[in-house]
Amino acid sequence: HAKENGRNRAQFFDNEISKNNLFYLKIENGLHEAVTGGQIYIQYQPQFNYQTRTVIGIEALMRWKHPEEGILKPSVFIPIAEETGLITSLGYFLLDIVCKQIAEWQKHITNLPTIAINLSPKQFLEPSLVKHVQQLIEHYEIKPNALEFEITESAFMQETETTLANINGLANLGCRISIDDFGTGYSNLSYLKRFPIHMIKIDKSFIDDIRHDNDDKAIVDAVIRLAEALNITCLAEGVETKEQLEILKGMGCENIQGFLFSKPLHPRLITELIKQHQSADN
Ligand code: C2E
Ligand code: MG
Ligand code: MG
Ligand code: MG
Repeated sequence: HAKENGRNRAQFFDNEISKNNLFYLKIENGLHEAVTGGQIYIQYQPQFNYQTRTVIGIEALMRWKHPEEGILKPSVFIPIAEETGLITSLGYFLLDIVCKQIAEWQKHITNLPTIAINLSPKQFLEPSLVKHVQQLIEHYEIKPNALEFEITESAFMQETETTLANINGLANLGCRISIDDFGTGYSNLSYLKRFPIHMIKIDKSFIDDIRHDNDDKAIVDAVIRLAEALNITCLAEGVETKEQLEILKGMGCENIQGFLFSKPLHPRLITELIKQHQSADN
C-alpha cells in the first residue's frame, strides 16, 4: 500500500517534470540565488500535549519566497534539490538559520521546547554531517538537546555505513532523533530498538480519515501501542479537527501537531505562543 503510494508519487513527479521542464530548470537555477538572496525562510509549527497542555516541540518548515512563483512549499522544490544534490548546501544553510534562532530563543525563553529539523535521507550520506552540527552547536552555544532531527524510515533503509554512523553520531551529540511520516516507509522496524529514537510521528495520511476508516484507526492504535511498549513518545501529525483529536485521545495518543492547534508560524508568533502557555502554567 505504502509502496504503491511511493511509486505513484514518483511517477506523478516524473510526469510533472517532463511536462514542466522549464519549471524544473527555473527551480534548479533559482535555488542558488534563493539561498544567497534571502528568499528562503522558515516557519515553525508547535507540537502540543493536551494532557499537560504544553508545547512539547516545534518543527522548522522551510519556505521559499520565489520572485515569480510566489511562496513555494518544500514538496515542490525539495525533490529537485535532492535530485540535483543541492539539498546538502541548502540543508546546512537551514541548519544555520535554525541554530541561530534557537540561540535567540534561549536568551528569552526558559525551558524552550525542542526544535525539530527535517533531514532528507540524502543529507545522511554526507560524511561531515555530525561534525557540522557539532560546530553549529558550539558556535551558537545552544544545548544539544534543544535540537531534534526528523528522519524518515527511508533513511534507515539505506543502511549505508555513513548513514548509520550519522544517526548514531547525532544522538551521541545529545540531539534527539524522531521518525517522521511513520507508517509510510514499510521498513524493517528493528531500527526502533537499535537506535535511541525519541519520538514516532504518525503520518497524516492515517489521521485524515480516521473517523470513517477502521483500517486507519487500527493502524494508528497499533502504532500507539508499539510506541508505548518501546517507551517512545508518540505524536499524530496533521490533526485538523476536534473529532480526530477525540479519537486519538480515546486511544491514548497525547501529542498532536496540526492545524487544529496551530499552523506553521513566524518565529515572532512562536515566542508569544510559548510565553502565553508558560504563564498559563503558573
Ligand atoms: P513533514 O516533515 O511531515 O511536515 C509536516 C507537513 O504537514 C508540513 O508541510 C506542515 O505544514 C503540514 N501540516 C501540518 N499540520 C497540518 C494539518 O493539520 N493539515 C495539513 N493539510 N497539513 C499540515 P510542509 O511545510 O509543506 O512540508 C512538507 C514536507 O517537506 C515536510 O513534511 C518535510 O518532509 C519536508 N520539509 C519541510 N521543511 C524541510 C526542511 O527544512 N528540510 C527537509 N529536508 N525537508 C523539509
Ligand atoms: Mg517533519
Ligand atoms: Mg511528517
Ligand atoms: Mg485507508
